[in-house]
Amino acid sequence: MSESGSEAGKAGKAGRVYLVGAGPGDPDLITVKGLKLLSRASVVVTDRLANKRLLNNVPDTAEIIYAGKSPRAHTLSQQEIIDVLVDRASAGKTVVRLKGGDPFVFGRGGEEAAALAEAGIEFEVVPGISSAIAAPAYAGIPVTSRSRAVSLGIITGHEAADKAESDIKWRELAAGLDTIVCLMGVENLRSIVEKLLQFGRAPETPAAVIEWATYSRQRTITGTLADISGKCAESGIGAPAVFVAGDVVNLRRKIAWFERRPLFGRRVMVTRALHQAPELTELLEEAGADVDEYPMIRFVWPSDLEPLDAAISGDQSYDWIVFTSANGVDHFFRRALELGRDARVVGDAKLAAIGPKTAAALESFGLKVDFVPSRYISEAVASEFPGDIAGQRILIPRAQEAGDELPRGLRARGAEVNVVTAYRTVADKTHEEDVLEACRRGEVDIVTFASSSAVKSFFEIVGEHELPETAAIACIGPVTASAVRSHGVEPDVVAEDYTIEGLVGALTGWACREKTDKSI
Ligand code: SAH
Repeated sequence: MSESGSEAGKAGKAGRVYLVGAGPGDPDLITVKGLKLLSRASVVVTDRLANKRLLNNVPDTAEIIYAGKSPRAHTLSQQEIIDVLVDRASAGKTVVRLKGGDPFVFGRGGEEAAALAEAGIEFEVVPGISSAIAAPAYAGIPVTSRSRAVSLGIITGHEAADKAESDIKWRELAAGLDTIVCLMGVENLRSIVEKLLQFGRAPETPAAVIEWATYSRQRTITGTLADISGKCAESGIGAPAVFVAGDVVNLRRKIAWFERRPLFGRRVMVTRALHQAPELTELLEEAGADVDEYPMIRFVWPSDLEPLDAAISGDQSYDWIVFTSANGVDHFFRRALELGRDARVVGDAKLAAIGPKTAAALESFGLKVDFVPSRYISEAVASEFPGDIAGQRILIPRAQEAGDELPRGLRARGAEVNVVTAYRTVADKTHEEDVLEACRRGEVDIVTFASSSAVKSFFEIVGEHELPETAAIACIGPVTASAVRSHGVEPDVVAEDYTIEGLVGALTGWACREKTDKSI
Protein backbone atom coordinates (compact mmCIF):
# COMPACT_ATOMS: atom_id res chain seq x y z
CA MET A 1 0.00 0.00 0.00
CA SER A 2 1.41 3.41 -0.80
CA GLU A 3 0.39 6.92 -1.47
CA SER A 4 2.31 9.17 -3.79
CA GLY A 5 2.41 12.75 -4.90
CA SER A 6 3.44 14.37 -1.63
CA GLU A 7 4.37 18.02 -1.65
CA ALA A 8 7.76 17.06 -0.26
CA GLY A 9 8.16 14.57 -3.08
CA LYS A 10 7.66 17.33 -5.60
CA ALA A 11 10.18 19.55 -3.84
CA GLY A 12 12.99 16.99 -3.69
CA LYS A 13 13.63 13.31 -3.16
CA ALA A 14 10.57 12.01 -1.37
CA GLY A 15 11.05 10.25 1.90
CA ARG A 16 8.97 7.31 2.89
CA VAL A 17 7.64 5.85 6.10
CA TYR A 18 7.59 2.11 6.70
CA LEU A 19 5.24 0.95 9.42
CA VAL A 20 7.11 -2.17 10.44
CA GLY A 21 5.97 -4.91 12.79
CA ALA A 22 8.85 -5.78 15.10
CA GLY A 23 7.30 -9.07 16.18
CA PRO A 24 6.42 -10.06 19.72
CA GLY A 25 9.84 -9.70 21.37
CA ASP A 26 12.43 -12.23 20.24
CA PRO A 27 14.43 -10.14 17.74
CA ASP A 28 14.56 -13.06 15.33
CA LEU A 29 10.80 -12.86 14.97
CA ILE A 30 10.89 -9.78 12.74
CA THR A 31 10.22 -10.34 9.03
CA VAL A 32 13.06 -10.42 6.50
CA LYS A 33 11.59 -7.32 4.92
CA GLY A 34 11.43 -5.51 8.26
CA LEU A 35 15.06 -6.34 8.94
CA LYS A 36 16.17 -5.16 5.49
CA LEU A 37 14.37 -1.87 6.02
CA LEU A 38 15.98 -1.36 9.42
CA SER A 39 19.41 -1.85 7.88
CA ARG A 40 18.86 1.03 5.51
CA ALA A 41 16.78 3.35 7.66
CA SER A 42 17.89 6.90 8.20
CA VAL A 43 15.38 7.44 11.01
CA VAL A 44 13.85 4.84 13.32
CA VAL A 45 10.93 5.72 15.55
CA THR A 46 10.53 2.84 17.94
CA ASP A 47 8.07 1.64 20.55
CA ARG A 48 8.70 0.31 24.02
CA LEU A 49 7.53 -3.16 23.07
CA ALA A 50 9.81 -3.44 20.05
CA ASN A 51 12.95 -5.24 21.24
CA LYS A 52 15.76 -2.68 21.41
CA ARG A 53 18.23 -5.25 20.15
CA LEU A 54 16.65 -4.81 16.74
CA LEU A 55 18.32 -1.41 16.71
CA ASN A 56 21.70 -3.15 16.35
CA ASN A 57 20.73 -3.58 12.70
CA VAL A 58 20.30 0.13 12.13
CA PRO A 59 23.14 2.12 10.46
CA ASP A 60 25.30 4.06 12.95
CA THR A 61 24.31 7.27 11.27
CA ALA A 62 20.57 6.75 11.76
CA GLU A 63 18.57 8.93 14.10
CA ILE A 64 16.76 6.85 16.71
CA ILE A 65 13.67 8.23 18.38
CA TYR A 66 12.09 6.43 21.33
CA ALA A 67 8.38 7.02 21.12
CA GLY A 68 7.25 4.52 23.71
CA LYS A 69 7.01 4.93 27.41
CA SER A 70 10.23 4.07 29.15
CA PRO A 71 11.69 5.18 32.45
CA ARG A 72 14.65 6.82 30.70
CA ALA A 73 13.04 8.39 27.69
CA HIS A 74 10.53 11.09 27.09
CA THR A 75 7.16 9.87 25.91
CA LEU A 76 5.86 11.28 22.65
CA SER A 77 2.15 11.82 22.26
CA GLN A 78 0.44 10.18 19.30
CA GLN A 79 0.31 13.55 17.56
CA GLU A 80 4.02 14.17 18.22
CA ILE A 81 4.83 10.76 16.74
CA ILE A 82 2.88 11.56 13.60
CA ASP A 83 4.54 14.99 13.39
CA VAL A 84 7.99 13.39 13.61
CA LEU A 85 7.13 10.85 10.91
CA VAL A 86 5.80 13.56 8.60
CA ASP A 87 8.72 15.88 9.33
CA ARG A 88 11.48 13.34 8.66
CA ALA A 89 9.80 11.85 5.60
CA SER A 90 9.25 15.34 4.20
CA ALA A 91 12.98 15.93 4.61
CA GLY A 92 13.53 12.98 2.25
CA LYS A 93 14.43 10.44 4.93
CA THR A 94 13.72 6.73 4.95
CA VAL A 95 11.78 6.36 8.16
CA VAL A 96 11.07 3.08 9.90
CA ARG A 97 8.25 3.26 12.40
CA LEU A 98 8.90 0.14 14.42
CA LYS A 99 5.99 -1.23 16.40
CA GLY A 100 5.69 -4.24 18.67
CA GLY A 101 3.96 -7.28 17.17
CA ASP A 102 1.91 -6.33 14.15
CA PRO A 103 1.42 -2.61 13.49
CA PHE A 104 -2.29 -3.03 12.77
CA VAL A 105 -3.20 -5.23 15.74
CA PHE A 106 -4.01 -2.80 18.55
CA GLY A 107 -0.91 -0.85 17.66
CA ARG A 108 -2.44 2.41 16.47
CA GLY A 109 -0.69 1.66 13.20
CA GLY A 110 -3.96 2.29 11.42
CA GLU A 111 -4.14 5.83 12.83
CA GLU A 112 -0.57 6.55 11.82
CA ALA A 113 -1.11 5.22 8.31
CA ALA A 114 -4.27 7.32 7.93
CA ALA A 115 -2.46 10.44 9.15
CA LEU A 116 0.41 9.82 6.72
CA ALA A 117 -2.03 9.33 3.88
CA GLU A 118 -3.69 12.60 4.82
CA ALA A 119 -0.36 14.40 4.94
CA GLY A 120 0.52 13.04 1.50
CA ILE A 121 3.49 11.07 2.78
CA GLU A 122 4.36 7.83 1.01
CA PHE A 123 4.24 4.83 3.26
CA GLU A 124 4.25 1.07 3.32
CA VAL A 125 3.07 -1.40 5.91
CA VAL A 126 5.20 -4.39 6.84
CA PRO A 127 3.12 -6.78 8.95
CA GLY A 128 4.65 -8.44 11.95
CA ILE A 129 4.01 -11.51 14.05
CA SER A 130 1.43 -10.43 16.58
CA SER A 131 1.78 -11.37 20.22
CA ALA A 132 -1.86 -12.45 19.94
CA ILE A 133 -0.68 -15.54 18.06
CA ALA A 134 2.95 -15.76 19.12
CA ALA A 135 2.44 -15.59 22.89
CA PRO A 136 0.10 -18.60 22.93
CA ALA A 137 2.38 -20.39 20.42
CA TYR A 138 5.41 -19.89 22.70
CA ALA A 139 3.38 -21.24 25.60
CA GLY A 140 2.54 -24.34 23.56
CA ILE A 141 -1.03 -23.23 22.81
CA PRO A 142 -2.21 -23.34 19.20
CA VAL A 143 -4.99 -20.74 18.91
CA THR A 144 -6.99 -22.97 16.59
CA SER A 145 -7.28 -26.71 16.47
CA ARG A 146 -9.29 -28.89 14.13
CA SER A 147 -10.98 -30.73 16.95
CA ARG A 148 -11.19 -28.06 19.65
CA ALA A 149 -11.28 -24.58 18.16
CA VAL A 150 -12.43 -23.43 14.75
CA SER A 151 -12.88 -19.77 15.60
CA LEU A 152 -10.70 -17.15 17.26
CA GLY A 153 -11.43 -13.72 18.66
CA ILE A 154 -8.78 -11.14 19.54
CA ILE A 155 -9.94 -8.42 21.89
CA THR A 156 -8.45 -5.51 23.75
CA GLY A 157 -8.64 -5.48 27.52
CA HIS A 158 -7.77 -1.82 27.60
CA GLU A 159 -11.25 -0.81 26.81
CA ALA A 160 -12.20 -0.95 30.46
CA ALA A 161 -14.25 -4.08 30.70
CA ASP A 162 -16.57 -2.52 33.21
CA LYS A 163 -17.21 0.61 31.21
CA ALA A 164 -20.99 0.97 31.00
CA GLU A 165 -21.22 0.82 27.21
CA SER A 166 -18.46 -1.53 26.12
CA ASP A 167 -17.70 -1.70 22.41
CA ILE A 168 -16.93 -5.36 22.88
CA LYS A 169 -19.85 -7.64 22.11
CA TRP A 170 -19.40 -9.76 25.19
CA ARG A 171 -22.46 -11.90 24.64
CA GLU A 172 -21.48 -12.94 21.10
CA LEU A 173 -17.86 -13.30 22.11
CA ALA A 174 -18.44 -15.42 25.20
CA ALA A 175 -20.93 -17.69 23.52
CA GLY A 176 -19.82 -17.70 19.90
CA LEU A 177 -16.03 -17.98 19.73
CA ASP A 178 -13.96 -21.02 20.66
CA THR A 179 -10.69 -19.28 21.46
CA ILE A 180 -10.55 -15.80 22.96
CA VAL A 181 -7.27 -13.92 23.07
CA CYS A 182 -7.06 -10.66 24.97
CA LEU A 183 -4.23 -8.11 24.69
CA MET A 184 -3.59 -5.30 27.17
CA GLY A 185 -5.83 -7.11 29.60
CA VAL A 186 -3.69 -7.98 32.54
CA GLU A 187 -4.77 -5.00 34.67
CA ASN A 188 -8.43 -5.68 33.95
CA LEU A 189 -8.20 -9.43 34.00
CA ARG A 190 -10.72 -9.90 36.77
CA SER A 191 -13.46 -7.92 35.04
CA ILE A 192 -12.73 -9.47 31.65
CA VAL A 193 -13.11 -12.94 33.11
CA GLU A 194 -16.27 -11.87 34.92
CA LYS A 195 -17.77 -10.63 31.68
CA LEU A 196 -17.05 -13.94 29.95
CA LEU A 197 -18.65 -15.84 32.83
CA GLN A 198 -21.59 -13.47 33.06
CA PHE A 199 -22.33 -14.00 29.38
CA GLY A 200 -22.34 -17.73 29.62
CA ARG A 201 -18.80 -19.04 29.27
CA ALA A 202 -18.28 -22.07 31.52
CA PRO A 203 -16.13 -21.43 34.61
CA GLU A 204 -14.12 -24.57 33.86
CA THR A 205 -12.99 -23.17 30.49
CA PRO A 206 -9.19 -23.55 30.43
CA ALA A 207 -7.32 -20.23 30.49
CA ALA A 208 -3.72 -19.01 30.43
CA VAL A 209 -1.82 -15.77 30.81
CA ILE A 210 1.56 -15.41 29.14
CA GLU A 211 3.85 -12.62 30.32
CA TRP A 212 6.88 -11.39 28.31
CA ALA A 213 6.18 -13.96 25.63
CA THR A 214 9.06 -15.10 23.42
CA TYR A 215 11.62 -13.65 25.84
CA SER A 216 13.62 -15.89 28.09
CA ARG A 217 11.78 -14.36 31.01
CA GLN A 218 8.45 -15.60 29.61
CA ARG A 219 6.07 -16.79 32.33
CA THR A 220 2.89 -18.72 31.78
CA ILE A 221 0.14 -19.17 34.31
CA THR A 222 -2.61 -21.65 33.54
CA GLY A 223 -5.95 -22.35 35.18
CA THR A 224 -9.62 -21.98 34.40
CA LEU A 225 -11.86 -18.95 34.10
CA ALA A 226 -12.81 -19.66 37.70
CA ASP A 227 -9.33 -19.30 39.13
CA ILE A 228 -7.04 -17.60 36.58
CA SER A 229 -7.38 -14.05 37.93
CA GLY A 230 -6.60 -15.19 41.45
CA LYS A 231 -3.60 -17.19 40.28
CA CYS A 232 -2.28 -14.26 38.26
CA ALA A 233 -2.67 -11.81 41.13
CA GLU A 234 -0.86 -14.25 43.39
CA SER A 235 2.08 -14.68 41.06
CA GLY A 236 2.35 -10.95 40.37
CA ILE A 237 2.00 -11.25 36.59
CA GLY A 238 2.06 -7.86 34.90
CA ALA A 239 2.15 -6.25 31.45
CA PRO A 240 2.98 -7.13 28.80
CA ALA A 241 0.85 -10.24 28.93
CA VAL A 242 -1.60 -12.05 26.71
CA PHE A 243 -4.68 -13.76 28.08
CA VAL A 244 -6.09 -16.76 26.26
CA ALA A 245 -9.19 -18.78 27.05
CA GLY A 246 -10.55 -21.88 25.38
CA ASP A 247 -10.08 -25.64 25.20
CA VAL A 248 -6.86 -25.21 23.20
CA VAL A 249 -5.11 -24.14 26.42
CA ASN A 250 -5.11 -27.78 27.50
CA LEU A 251 -2.85 -28.65 24.55
CA ARG A 252 -0.04 -26.85 26.37
CA ARG A 253 0.55 -29.87 28.55
CA LYS A 254 1.80 -31.73 25.50
CA ILE A 255 3.06 -28.94 23.30
CA ALA A 256 4.91 -26.58 25.69
CA TRP A 257 8.37 -26.42 24.14
CA PHE A 258 9.91 -23.02 24.71
CA GLU A 259 10.06 -23.21 28.47
CA ARG A 260 11.57 -26.68 28.45
CA ARG A 261 14.91 -25.67 26.92
CA PRO A 262 17.93 -25.98 29.26
CA LEU A 263 18.83 -22.30 29.72
CA PHE A 264 15.24 -21.10 29.68
CA GLY A 265 14.65 -18.28 32.13
CA ARG A 266 18.35 -17.47 32.56
CA ARG A 267 19.78 -14.05 31.83
CA VAL A 268 23.21 -14.56 30.42
CA MET A 269 25.86 -11.90 29.89
CA VAL A 270 28.14 -12.26 26.90
CA THR A 271 31.38 -10.36 27.42
CA ARG A 272 33.14 -11.12 24.13
CA ALA A 273 34.16 -8.39 21.71
CA LEU A 274 31.27 -7.04 19.65
CA HIS A 275 32.08 -8.86 16.41
CA GLN A 276 32.72 -12.14 18.23
CA ALA A 277 29.60 -12.08 20.37
CA PRO A 278 26.89 -13.16 17.89
CA GLU A 279 28.14 -16.72 17.54
CA LEU A 280 27.99 -17.28 21.30
CA THR A 281 24.73 -15.37 21.65
CA GLU A 282 23.06 -17.50 19.05
CA LEU A 283 24.02 -20.77 20.70
CA LEU A 284 22.92 -19.50 24.10
CA GLU A 285 19.60 -18.34 22.71
CA GLU A 286 19.03 -21.67 21.04
CA ALA A 287 19.40 -23.19 24.49
CA GLY A 288 16.77 -20.77 25.79
CA ALA A 289 18.86 -18.04 27.42
CA ASP A 290 17.96 -14.37 27.53
CA VAL A 291 21.24 -12.85 26.38
CA ASP A 292 22.71 -9.43 27.08
CA GLU A 293 25.73 -8.60 24.97
CA TYR A 294 28.10 -6.39 26.90
CA PRO A 295 31.42 -6.42 25.06
CA MET A 296 34.22 -6.04 27.61
CA ILE A 297 37.06 -5.93 25.15
CA ARG A 298 37.91 -4.75 21.68
CA PHE A 299 40.92 -5.26 19.47
CA VAL A 300 43.20 -2.54 18.17
CA TRP A 301 46.43 -2.39 16.22
CA PRO A 302 49.67 -2.54 18.22
CA SER A 303 51.08 0.87 19.20
CA ASP A 304 54.22 -0.07 17.27
CA LEU A 305 53.50 -1.81 13.96
CA GLU A 306 57.18 -2.08 13.04
CA PRO A 307 57.80 -5.66 14.25
CA LEU A 308 54.62 -6.94 12.56
CA ASP A 309 55.49 -5.10 9.35
CA ALA A 310 59.00 -6.50 9.45
CA ALA A 311 57.66 -10.03 9.92
CA ILE A 312 55.32 -9.54 6.97
CA SER A 313 57.67 -7.78 4.57
CA GLY A 314 61.07 -8.82 5.86
CA ASP A 315 63.46 -11.15 4.08
CA GLN A 316 63.37 -13.59 6.93
CA SER A 317 61.52 -16.73 5.92
CA TYR A 318 59.91 -18.97 8.50
CA ASP A 319 59.54 -22.73 8.81
CA TRP A 320 56.34 -22.32 10.79
CA ILE A 321 53.83 -19.60 11.55
CA VAL A 322 51.74 -20.25 14.65
CA PHE A 323 48.41 -18.47 14.99
CA THR A 324 46.85 -18.49 18.42
CA SER A 325 43.51 -16.88 17.61
CA ALA A 326 41.23 -16.00 14.73
CA ASN A 327 41.94 -12.40 15.65
CA GLY A 328 45.66 -12.94 15.12
CA VAL A 329 44.89 -14.37 11.67
CA ASP A 330 42.61 -11.48 10.89
CA HIS A 331 45.06 -8.76 11.93
CA PHE A 332 48.07 -10.45 10.30
CA PHE A 333 46.42 -10.74 6.89
CA ARG A 334 44.70 -7.38 7.10
CA ARG A 335 48.06 -5.76 7.71
CA ALA A 336 49.59 -7.80 4.89
CA LEU A 337 46.91 -6.43 2.54
CA GLU A 338 47.62 -2.90 3.75
CA LEU A 339 51.27 -3.47 2.90
CA GLY A 340 50.34 -4.59 -0.58
CA ARG A 341 50.75 -8.30 0.09
CA ASP A 342 48.23 -11.15 0.22
CA ALA A 343 47.89 -14.69 1.57
CA ARG A 344 51.11 -15.65 -0.28
CA VAL A 345 52.95 -13.73 2.40
CA VAL A 346 53.20 -16.98 4.36
CA GLY A 347 55.46 -18.40 1.65
CA ASP A 348 56.46 -22.00 2.27
CA ALA A 349 55.97 -21.81 6.00
CA LYS A 350 53.87 -24.51 7.60
CA LEU A 351 50.88 -23.23 9.54
CA ALA A 352 49.75 -24.09 13.05
CA ALA A 353 46.44 -23.02 14.57
CA ILE A 354 45.64 -23.26 18.24
CA GLY A 355 42.01 -24.31 17.74
CA PRO A 356 39.34 -25.00 15.14
CA LYS A 357 38.20 -21.36 14.85
CA THR A 358 41.75 -20.20 14.21
CA ALA A 359 42.17 -23.00 11.66
CA ALA A 360 38.90 -22.02 9.99
CA ALA A 361 40.09 -18.41 9.78
CA LEU A 362 43.24 -19.57 7.94
CA GLU A 363 41.25 -21.87 5.70
CA SER A 364 39.03 -18.95 4.74
CA PHE A 365 42.14 -17.48 3.08
CA GLY A 366 42.55 -20.73 1.14
CA LEU A 367 45.40 -21.86 3.37
CA LYS A 368 45.89 -25.38 4.59
CA VAL A 369 46.62 -25.81 8.27
CA ASP A 370 49.39 -28.27 9.08
CA PHE A 371 48.89 -28.64 12.79
CA VAL A 372 46.11 -28.17 15.33
CA PRO A 373 46.85 -29.44 18.86
CA SER A 374 44.45 -31.78 20.62
CA ARG A 375 43.78 -29.28 23.40
CA TYR A 376 43.25 -25.67 22.48
CA ILE A 377 45.67 -23.99 24.87
CA SER A 378 49.18 -22.63 24.34
CA GLU A 379 50.84 -25.30 26.51
CA ALA A 380 49.46 -28.06 24.32
CA VAL A 381 50.83 -26.42 21.18
CA ALA A 382 54.37 -26.44 22.53
CA SER A 383 54.31 -30.02 23.77
CA GLU A 384 52.48 -31.53 20.80
CA PHE A 385 54.26 -29.61 18.06
CA PRO A 386 55.09 -32.23 15.42
CA GLY A 387 58.55 -33.27 14.32
CA ASP A 388 61.96 -32.06 15.39
CA ILE A 389 61.75 -28.30 15.60
CA ALA A 390 65.29 -27.73 16.85
CA GLY A 391 66.79 -24.86 14.85
CA GLN A 392 63.50 -24.15 13.06
CA ARG A 393 62.35 -20.56 12.67
CA ILE A 394 58.86 -20.01 14.09
CA LEU A 395 56.84 -16.81 13.83
CA ILE A 396 54.01 -16.17 16.31
CA PRO A 397 51.83 -13.16 15.44
CA ARG A 398 49.49 -12.73 18.38
CA ALA A 399 47.98 -10.49 21.06
CA GLN A 400 50.34 -8.22 22.94
CA GLU A 401 49.08 -9.42 26.30
CA ALA A 402 49.51 -13.17 25.66
CA GLY A 403 51.55 -15.17 28.16
CA ASP A 404 54.97 -16.62 27.40
CA GLU A 405 54.23 -20.36 27.86
CA LEU A 406 54.05 -20.97 24.13
CA PRO A 407 57.34 -19.29 23.04
CA ARG A 408 59.07 -20.67 26.10
CA GLY A 409 57.87 -24.21 25.34
CA LEU A 410 58.94 -23.96 21.71
CA ARG A 411 62.33 -22.48 22.58
CA ALA A 412 62.84 -25.27 25.08
CA ARG A 413 62.55 -27.61 22.12
CA GLY A 414 65.32 -25.73 20.34
CA ALA A 415 63.25 -23.56 18.02
CA GLU A 416 64.16 -20.01 17.12
CA VAL A 417 60.97 -18.11 17.99
CA ASN A 418 59.96 -14.63 16.87
CA VAL A 419 56.90 -13.29 18.69
CA VAL A 420 55.31 -10.21 17.12
CA THR A 421 52.35 -8.25 18.33
CA ALA A 422 49.57 -8.40 15.73
CA TYR A 423 46.96 -6.66 17.89
CA ARG A 424 46.23 -5.42 21.34
CA THR A 425 43.20 -6.25 23.43
CA VAL A 426 41.85 -3.21 25.22
CA ALA A 427 39.05 -2.86 27.73
CA ASP A 428 35.75 -1.73 26.24
CA LYS A 429 33.91 0.40 28.77
CA THR A 430 31.01 1.39 26.53
CA HIS A 431 28.54 -0.66 28.54
CA GLU A 432 29.88 0.15 31.99
CA GLU A 433 26.62 1.69 33.22
CA ASP A 434 24.38 -1.05 31.85
CA VAL A 435 26.55 -3.80 33.30
CA LEU A 436 26.62 -2.19 36.73
CA GLU A 437 22.90 -1.59 36.60
CA ALA A 438 22.20 -5.21 35.62
CA CYS A 439 24.40 -6.44 38.49
CA ARG A 440 22.81 -4.13 41.03
CA ARG A 441 19.32 -5.17 40.01
CA GLY A 442 20.32 -8.81 40.07
CA GLU A 443 19.40 -9.06 36.40
CA VAL A 444 22.17 -11.46 35.61
CA ASP A 445 22.08 -15.19 36.21
CA ILE A 446 25.18 -16.25 34.32
CA VAL A 447 28.28 -14.37 33.12
CA THR A 448 30.26 -16.01 30.33
CA PHE A 449 33.94 -15.43 29.71
CA ALA A 450 35.86 -16.53 26.65
CA SER A 451 39.15 -14.79 27.48
CA SER A 452 41.21 -13.58 30.42
CA SER A 453 41.18 -10.04 29.07
CA ALA A 454 37.38 -9.98 29.20
CA VAL A 455 37.61 -11.19 32.82
CA LYS A 456 40.04 -8.40 33.67
CA SER A 457 37.92 -5.72 32.05
CA PHE A 458 34.72 -7.07 33.65
CA PHE A 459 36.15 -6.95 37.16
CA GLU A 460 37.50 -3.46 36.53
CA ILE A 461 33.89 -2.41 36.04
CA VAL A 462 32.14 -4.70 38.47
CA GLY A 463 33.81 -4.91 41.85
CA GLU A 464 33.83 -8.41 43.30
CA HIS A 465 31.18 -7.38 45.83
CA GLU A 466 28.89 -5.99 43.13
CA LEU A 467 28.49 -9.26 41.29
CA PRO A 468 25.24 -10.82 42.59
CA GLU A 469 25.98 -13.87 44.72
CA THR A 470 23.47 -15.87 42.75
CA ALA A 471 25.22 -15.15 39.44
CA ALA A 472 27.06 -18.14 38.03
CA ILE A 473 30.28 -17.78 36.07
CA ALA A 474 31.10 -19.88 33.04
CA CYS A 475 34.58 -19.98 31.51
CA ILE A 476 35.78 -21.28 28.18
CA GLY A 477 38.81 -23.01 29.69
CA PRO A 478 41.34 -23.25 32.51
CA VAL A 479 43.26 -20.07 31.66
CA THR A 480 40.10 -17.95 31.77
CA ALA A 481 39.02 -19.81 34.92
CA SER A 482 42.23 -18.94 36.73
CA ALA A 483 41.78 -15.30 35.67
CA VAL A 484 38.37 -15.44 37.40
CA ARG A 485 39.87 -17.08 40.48
CA SER A 486 42.44 -14.32 40.72
CA HIS A 487 39.50 -12.08 41.62
CA GLY A 488 38.52 -14.36 44.46
CA VAL A 489 35.58 -15.85 42.60
CA GLU A 490 35.20 -19.56 41.87
CA PRO A 491 33.80 -20.27 38.39
CA ASP A 492 30.76 -22.55 38.36
CA VAL A 493 31.39 -23.95 34.89
CA VAL A 494 34.70 -24.51 33.11
CA ALA A 495 34.45 -26.00 29.64
CA GLU A 496 36.60 -29.00 28.88
CA ASP A 497 36.45 -28.41 25.17
CA TYR A 498 37.90 -24.90 24.87
CA THR A 499 35.59 -23.67 22.16
CA ILE A 500 32.40 -21.61 22.11
CA GLU A 501 30.42 -24.79 21.46
CA GLY A 502 32.24 -26.43 24.36
CA LEU A 503 31.37 -23.51 26.62
CA VAL A 504 27.68 -23.63 25.75
CA GLY A 505 27.65 -27.43 26.03
CA ALA A 506 29.17 -27.28 29.52
CA LEU A 507 26.76 -24.55 30.53
CA THR A 508 23.64 -26.37 29.36
CA GLY A 509 24.82 -29.56 31.08
CA TRP A 510 25.27 -27.59 34.30
CA ALA A 511 21.89 -25.88 33.90
CA CYS A 512 20.08 -29.18 33.32
CA ARG A 513 21.52 -30.48 36.56
CA GLU A 514 20.51 -27.28 38.34
CA LYS A 515 17.14 -26.85 36.72
CA THR A 516 14.11 -26.55 38.87
CA ASP A 517 11.25 -26.14 36.50
CA LYS A 518 9.12 -23.31 37.79
CA SER A 519 6.70 -22.86 34.98
CA ILE A 520 5.35 -26.10 33.63
N1 SAH B 1 0.67 -4.68 18.02
C1 SAH B 1 0.97 -5.54 19.13
C2 SAH B 1 0.04 -5.32 20.28
C3 SAH B 1 0.18 -3.95 20.89
S1 SAH B 1 -0.83 -3.73 22.29
C4 SAH B 1 0.94 -7.00 18.66
O1 SAH B 1 0.47 -7.29 17.56
O2 SAH B 1 1.43 -7.86 19.40
C5 SAH B 1 0.26 -4.20 23.57
C6 SAH B 1 -0.14 -5.52 24.16
O3 SAH B 1 0.37 -6.57 23.37
C7 SAH B 1 0.38 -5.78 25.54
O4 SAH B 1 -0.42 -5.16 26.52
C8 SAH B 1 0.28 -7.28 25.61
O5 SAH B 1 -1.05 -7.69 25.83
C9 SAH B 1 0.64 -7.67 24.20
N2 SAH B 1 2.06 -8.02 24.05
C10 SAH B 1 2.94 -7.48 23.22
N3 SAH B 1 4.13 -8.08 23.32
C11 SAH B 1 3.98 -9.05 24.23
C12 SAH B 1 4.84 -10.05 24.76
N4 SAH B 1 6.10 -10.18 24.38
N5 SAH B 1 4.33 -10.88 25.69
C13 SAH B 1 3.07 -10.80 26.11
N6 SAH B 1 2.22 -9.87 25.64
C14 SAH B 1 2.66 -9.02 24.70
